[in-house]
Amino acid sequence: MSKRLSREETAELIKGMKGRIAVTTHKNPDGDAVGSSLGWFNFLKKLGKEVKVVYKDPIPYFFDFLPGVEKVEVVGEPEVKEEFDWLIITDVSDPKRTGFESINAKKSLVIDHHITAEPFTDYAIVEPEISSTCELSYHIMKLIEPEAIDYSVALPIYTGIVTDTGSFGYSNTSPETHFVAAELMRKGVDPYFVIKNLFERNRINRFKLLELVLKTLSFALNNRVAHITLYQKFLKETGAYPEEAEGFISYPRSIAGVEVAVFFKEIEEGSWKVSLRSKGKVDVAQVAKKFGGGGHKMAAGYEVKGELKEIQEALFKELALSFEEAEFKELSS
Ligand code: 5GP
Ligand code: MN
Repeated sequence: MSKRLSREETAELIKGMKGRIAVTTHKNPDGDAVGSSLGWFNFLKKLGKEVKVVYKDPIPYFFDFLPGVEKVEVVGEPEVKEEFDWLIITDVSDPKRTGFESINAKKSLVIDHHITAEPFTDYAIVEPEISSTCELSYHIMKLIEPEAIDYSVALPIYTGIVTDTGSFGYSNTSPETHFVAAELMRKGVDPYFVIKNLFERNRINRFKLLELVLKTLSFALNNRVAHITLYQKFLKETGAYPEEAEGFISYPRSIAGVEVAVFFKEIEEGSWKVSLRSKGKVDVAQVAKKFGGGGHKMAAGYEVKGELKEIQEALFKELALSFEEAEFKELSS
């Protein structure tokens, strides 16, 4: 187990970091993962530290506007050969979710906001209530050196907050989140520049993929669960990239009466990624945890091997129990 740190203790620890620092995040990086790791990379450079950012997986093209993105080393293999003095892991606590089997570093720190986090590093700061790793990172950076938060830091940090809060729409958005966003705007961030780059550069392939995926829309548990499926063959057929399915889960979730949306993505034959979204009744982090995954109350996921039918049945069984539990709680309150 890691030594848990406060924001102040984390700031002191980072201030004192000497030698070579590696920053990494989770595989299939999303906006918060890319934003937080690039934010820290640019910030630590500004402080004069020797820092590298390494990812297992390539960065989706819609993050290509972020400063420092061209400096990311995409390793591709499960092992990083170089040796580091410090390793900073953002937006994830589970070692296998970085995609790496090992990164050689003398000391390590996790900066994360997942409720299911069980960090393994020497040190960790985990705040499950905060919107994003980016918002948490901003607070720590401010304690270290507010002047070093320039545009190259503010832009990725703002971007991660936008993606993890559903553009300031999800329940993880707090007054503090808006306050941080305001401060980042004062550093020069233009909200529409971010939105335009993230969401208004779709390739037509994405819509072809959406068409196929929406055809799989099905319901379970008296229409309280809506689910969609992406088969590998859909990607081949449309020429879409896997990351272009980002956001598709908001369609099943948007249906009236649906409480939980599920997206089954075939990674390869017999291997699936399951994404879960809740409207609040069911805690999907706890459901995902039962299958070895994790996340947040309203957004979670896991990876699983097996036949789709069996994976679905096992999940719906767990979800049925969660619905029962939620209804029991409602009745007894
Ligand atoms: P998404 O469905 O967008 O991939 O992920 C939603 C949330 O669930 C994110 O906070 C993400 O970190 C978490 N999550 C998704 N897949 C996994 C997984 O395989 N393991 C864990 N621990 N968390 C996951
Ligand atoms: Mn996050």
